[in-house]
Amino acid sequence: MASAPLIGIARMAQEARTLDSKARVEYREIAARSLLNRCSSGRMPFEWTINSYRGCEFGCKYCYARYTHEFMELRAAEDFERQIFAKGFDAAAFAKELRQVKQGEWIAIGTATDPYQPAERRYGVTRRVLEVFARRGGFKVALTTKSDLVTRDAGLLAEAGRRNTVRVNMTVTTMDRELARAMEPMAPRPDLRMGAVRELSAAGVSVGVFASPVMPGLNDGKADLEAVARAASEAGASRFGAMPLFLKPCALRVFLPFVEERFPWLGRAYADQFGRGAYPRGRFSEKVEQMVSELRARYDFASKRLEAAPDWGQKELF
Ligand code: SF4
Repeated sequence: MASAPLIGIARMAQEARTLDSKARVEYREIAARSLLNRCSSGRMPFEWTINSYRGCEFGCKYCYARYTHEFMELRAAEDFERQIFAKGFDAAAFAKELRQVKQGEWIAIGTATDPYQPAERRYGVTRRVLEVFARRGGFKVALTTKSDLVTRDAGLLAEAGRRNTVRVNMTVTTMDRELARAMEPMAPRPDLRMGAVRELSAAGVSVGVFASPVMPGLNDGKADLEAVARAASEAGASRFGAMPLFLKPCALRVFLPFVEERFPWLGRAYADQFGRGAYPRGRFSEKVEQMVSELRARYDFASKRLEAAPDWGQKELF
């Protein structure tokens, strides 16, 4: 039986021109109708998202964004981390899109793909986005990454931060290199990420460290979380936080076999806990919240200065 013709983003993905390929990863270019997307979920602390790429080479076992490749009919578990699409970027069109953003609304960069994954070294989509913010003013931008490549743009981020509110969130789930390598196989080591926090902070960029997701039996020990909070404080982070793991079906399909193989003694508990729903049941979320609030107090995050006030007065607003 002939299969139905692909439409929309699935057709664009199939027709996308190959830019380059490594043994493990293929890079392709894809047109984007818009780079700025409205976030419809009221649960999120931002109104807009920007994702420079589709797919993410870092391949975290718990990644909740794998479903985004399913829109392109790329359904194999490894497609998300092996077929990376760089979005076409047009600075003038992007500047026009920004007109939709109302004053006070947050724009989150890197909600479904890391903006500083290896592809960025070559294609520079994230850098070109930041260059627009560095020329404009009055926006609130939060960028999340696990990559020390972000330091390449330290000066640009600092410059953008003088005209806008700009925050970088570095994700560091554990300081244990082996555990990080197992859970986030292609992401930079935790010490490199903390080094990036130090460098950004020294450059005047507002930077926070987030230990999300906190995973039962893996990185949820008090000492584990404290090691991240201490290192964050020493590196000059002004914010620290962590949220419990959740596993949507696309993530569960990868995470469960991973736990069963690498941490077999946890397999049954994870299957029980997440087999019937994406969010942890019981008191786990409260436990994480309590630990985070103790650590924020111990390392005095509440009193740290978040960022210098942008120079709203002299620059173009929107
Ligand atoms: S870095 Fe983020 S987007 Fe990339 S695989 Fe990991 S969790 Fe997913």
